[in-house]
Amino acid sequence: MKLAGRARLRRAVALLGGLVVSSSLLPGPAQATPDAVPAVAPAAVAAAPCSAGYIALTFDDGPSKTQTPRLVQILKDRRVPATFFMVGSRVDSAPAAGRLVAREGFVVGNHTWSHPQLPSLSDGAVHKQLVDTGMAFRRARIPHSRLMRPPYGAIDARVRRDIAQVHLTPVLWTVDSRDWTGGTSGQIADRILRQLRPHQRNVVLQHDGINNSPNSVGAVPIVIRKARQRGFCFADLDDDARIHLPSARSIIPSLGSGAPGPGALFAPAGAQGAGRSAPSAPTAPSPRSKVRVAAFDPFFALR
Ligand SMILES: [Zn+2]
Repeated sequence: MKLAGRARLRRAVALLGGLVVSSSLLPGPAQATPDAVPAVAPAAVAAAPCSAGYIALTFDDGPSKTQTPRLVQILKDRRVPATFFMVGSRVDSAPAAGRLVAREGFVVGNHTWSHPQLPSLSDGAVHKQLVDTGMAFRRARIPHSRLMRPPYGAIDARVRRDIAQVHLTPVLWTVDSRDWTGGTSGQIADRILRQLRPHQRNVVLQHDGINNSPNSVGAVPIVIRKARQRGFCFADLDDDARIHLPSARSIIPSLGSGAPGPGALFAPAGAQGAGRSAPSAPTAPSPRSKVRVAAFDPFFALR
């Protein structure tokens, strides 16, 4: 197995490092100078790019005038694509922050107008939540995808039909950062990193529009660095919620050249999930996450 081999290599490197350090403690001419100690940087044992598969970062409940631009800069600097599920009423309040997301080439999805539990609404009210948000995107001149994320992951067969009627695709998540429960950036990053699964569908849920978003956004550079060391690459989601193959530049950041024009950063590479089995149906939330989100409302906590 590759992984076993890598673990052996890591142990061998650690052992070698230990031997050099030990020998440097010995007196006499054999003593190693600090220059002779090999630097065992994490990069020395980093996995090959994308050898562990892909991660789609998603951010809900924005746009926020403060956290969304900060997040965009972090992602842009590291050439990481991502998907933003925006709340329509917030697009109306912070249209420039929303526009920035789209202008930098990130995928924008619909997260309803006012973040209700959709199953508790009538068909007409569900329809209005989605259409009003589409109109907010239009007013703010924000190009958007067909993706939508039901608030709290709350969805049933009837709501699913309502969503399909307005030609949107619901998308949930597989990795819950639980950033709304609190935690430092390091703690949030650890929660995410622990849940990543090589060669599985990794769709991470974070928020750029809640009280703890400063810490959640602060977790993003840690997640990117450590996940890349483990061989993950980052991708966004296509209109059918499939993991969308990233451009070569987002896999190998050094391929990038300065600042490309609007929308050019994460231009589709042409291939759509080729060679990978990516389910087109959104992944159902765990029952646990349903209970959790029903018990606390991160969206309204922001106010
Ligand atoms: Zn939300």
